[in-house]
This record gives sequence, structure tokens and C-alpha cells, in this order.
Amino acid sequence: MVSQFGDFQASELYCPRCRRAQPVREHLLLVLPDGELHEYRCARCATSLGTRRTKGGLARPPGQPAPNRPSATRRPVRGLLG
Ligand SMILES: [Zn+2]
Repeated sequence: MVSQFGDFQASELYCPRCRRAQPVREHLLLVLPDGELHEYRCARCATSLGTRRTKGGLARPPGQPAPNRPSATRRPVRGLLG
């Protein structure tokens, strides 16, 4: 089976609550003037395991669409609404 997560960065981090490495889910935490702040949460218990800051998230140059993103797939935006 090939991973179907697309641009989701599948990785595992150690979760102190689960006391083992768990897959993480990435949530958009903040939109900054020069990038975005993402939070990694344990996919099992939703404990925050860390954050990642991306640069230039708002300044994507035209002509470079996201790779291999099927247009028919809707991704629910969570994190800002909760
Ligand atoms: Zn956990």
C-alpha cells in the first residue's frame, strides 16, 4: 500500500501520554505574516507534541501548484475553528 496522505507529513513522535511513539497529525495553529505555525498532535490522544514553523506559506509563487493534489479531494480545515 502506498501512503495516501498526500502532503501530510507522516511521521512519528514520542508521546509521553501514550508512552510510545505515535503517528502525529498536523494542525494549522497560526498564520503569521511570514509563514505558518503548525502544531503536531498525537493521532491517538491529541496531546500536543510540538510545533513547526513554515516560512513563506502565504507567498507561494504562481505557476507552482501543490504537487499531486487531487482537486476533487476536500480537506477539512481544522484547528482554527475548534
Ligand atoms: Zn498520545
